[in-house]
Amino acid sequence: MIKKILVANRGEIAIRVMRTCREMGIESAAVFSEADRSSMHVRFADEAYFIGEAPSNESYLVIDKIIAVAKRCKADAIHPGYGFLSENADFADRCEKEGIIFIGPSSFAINTMGDKITARKNMLKAGVPVVPGTSEPIKDIKEAVGLIMDIGLPVMVKASAGGGGKGMRLIKEENEIIAGVSAAKSEAKAAFGNDAVYIEKYINSPHHIEFQVLADKHGNCIHLFERECSVQRRHQKVVEETPSPIMTPEVRAEMGKYAVAAAKAVNYASAGTIEFIVDDDLNYYFLEMNTRLQVEHPITERVVGVDLVKEQINIANGKKLSLKQDELTQNGHAIEVRIYAEDPDNNFMPSPGLVKHITEPLGLGVRHDGYIYEGYNIPMYYDPLVSKLIVWAPTRNEAISRMKRALFAYKIVGIKTTIPFLSRIMDVPSFRKGKYNTHIIQDNQKYLEPKNTATQKIKDVVSITAFVDYINKIEAAKTNGKANAVASKWKMCGRTRNMNRL
Ligand code: ADP
Repeated sequence: MIKKILVANRGEIAIRVMRTCREMGIESAAVFSEADRSSMHVRFADEAYFIGEAPSNESYLVIDKIIAVAKRCKADAIHPGYGFLSENADFADRCEKEGIIFIGPSSFAINTMGDKITARKNMLKAGVPVVPGTSEPIKDIKEAVGLIMDIGLPVMVKASAGGGGKGMRLIKEENEIIAGVSAAKSEAKAAFGNDAVYIEKYINSPHHIEFQVLADKHGNCIHLFERECSVQRRHQKVVEETPSPIMTPEVRAEMGKYAVAAAKAVNYASAGTIEFIVDDDLNYYFLEMNTRLQVEHPITERVVGVDLVKEQINIANGKKLSLKQDELTQNGHAIEVRIYAEDPDNNFMPSPGLVKHITEPLGLGVRHDGYIYEGYNIPMYYDPLVSKLIVWAPTRNEAISRMKRALFAYKIVGIKTTIPFLSRIMDVPSFRKGKYNTHIIQDNQKYLEPKNTATQKIKDVVSITAFVDYINKIEAAKTNGKANAVASKWKMCGRTRNMNRL
């Protein structure tokens, strides 16, 4: 049985994993780079170990360093979170060789699903519908022209090793083929060290709908329904919701069966996600499998009523799934927004730096998975995600209203964030109607442009002034006229952190 877990990650996801560890009575150990000495995840853990300089290829991505810490602190298992080493088959293998449990699937499953061409071949074999296209790497441009004309324009050229939207090109016209294929190849080579690309038919009016799966080591596999992730910017998710507003019970049941078949085809054992691309008529095609916990996993947790990290740990411990497919239901509606340290009004420029003030939203149906605090300096080295705001309500309309209320209450001063942009998305008419596809952001610029900035700034100043005044009054009442009536900022900071630790 796992007694101590090394969390090989940072930021919000490291904290999220540690919370479940604490609930399960499992000790947690953190790792941190030079840039993360004052990161909240270090304080959350029972123990923390320094692993090197700020760049992730000198710290969070160095397998030897992570393994050495796991051995030194006698961790029985490693949770990789998402990103970093989470989909690195060599890392999963190495853990196994060193007698440390990797909380995730086998290296075979990671390898098979990590390479998109191999995954397509395996899905075809398992009878799962894939996007029409090629299932071998493109050998040369001449061949590409012929294949693309056979498939029919428009097409997507995609890197087999792709991820994060890199190495992907949409080709609409015949005269774009040569430049498009070459660009995808060189981008793939630069990003992944592998220039293999293949071709997929471009699905018009695409919707990104994914299914959460859970599988144990005894051959049991279930799905936990879908997440709608079509609100995207540059092929990256911005807002996620469940249930999908376009789903029908019949299609959900069919897609769920295919998701389970896809996971079973690679003997999957852990939490995983099968992504599909879906058109307006609900024709669906396998896109890829993510062999890890997803950023957007909390909306499934809320609607289905499970703790996915707990399930992962139980599976890693060799337990059988306690959940049964027939007993699972979707209860109400959940929405997640990703808050980035970026300036939405200046082409999403990164905005690292000092957090001067933060008021996190609270109240009925609100979950906040973050890691920044007042006085924290957001480093420039890592993903700019600062937090995820998740709301739940009985209906979709109520969930949207709740998200708007929570975003209004969420105040971060010192850095720019995407909060105002996310709030504007909630008001886009097609989002409100639940009738949108992956083009929603580019098609609705007029709703998404900044407005009333001055009014918003005034509102911010008023709310922060009121908050600071409130804290001062509390401190003054506590000290009750004693000589040291001025509260120490350090003391206040410590209290906030201790509260967060619970
Ligand atoms: P990555 O692994 O780089 O994230 P994916 O294959 O998951 O790439 O695709 C990311 C996004 O790109 C999808 O969610 C979708 O918006 C768009 N996309 C990918 N393939 C297609 C396609 N064949 N047709 C239309 N859109 C696509």
